[in-house]
Amino acid sequence: MDTDVIVVGAGPTGLTLANELGLAGVRALVLERLSERTGQSKAVNLTRP
Ligand SMILES: Cc1cc2nc3c(=O)[nH]c(=O)nc-3n(C[C@H](O)[C@H](O)[C@H](O)COP(=O)(O)OP(=O)(O)OC[C@H]3O[C@@H](n4cnc5c(N)ncnc54)[C@H](O)[C@@H]3O)c2cc1C
Repeated sequence: MDTDVIVVGAGPTGLTLANELGLAGVRALVLERLSERTGQSKAVNLTRP
């Protein structure tokens, strides 16, 4: 497997990390255990930290 970093989990954290790594020229492979979306919404609203 030709990759620099393996990111486990394709949630917002993993996808953001993989995207930022890509922008920095680091090749990331994202592994997700779910084969499809759950159908459950986890973004009903936006909350400021
Ligand atoms: C019912 C519900 C409603 C919500 N509503 C909101 C909302 O309205 N607004 C808001 O801002 N936030 C909301 N949240 C919170 C928001 O969903 C989380 O803050 C966010 O999803 C966290 O992102 P994450 O990437 O850290 O984790 P997750 O989204 O949990 O992603 C982790 C991913 O890793 C995968 N994974 C785990 N273990 C493995 C493994 N061993 N191998 C491969 N893959 C693995 C999981 O399948 C999952 O896809 C809600 C959460 C829930 C449960």
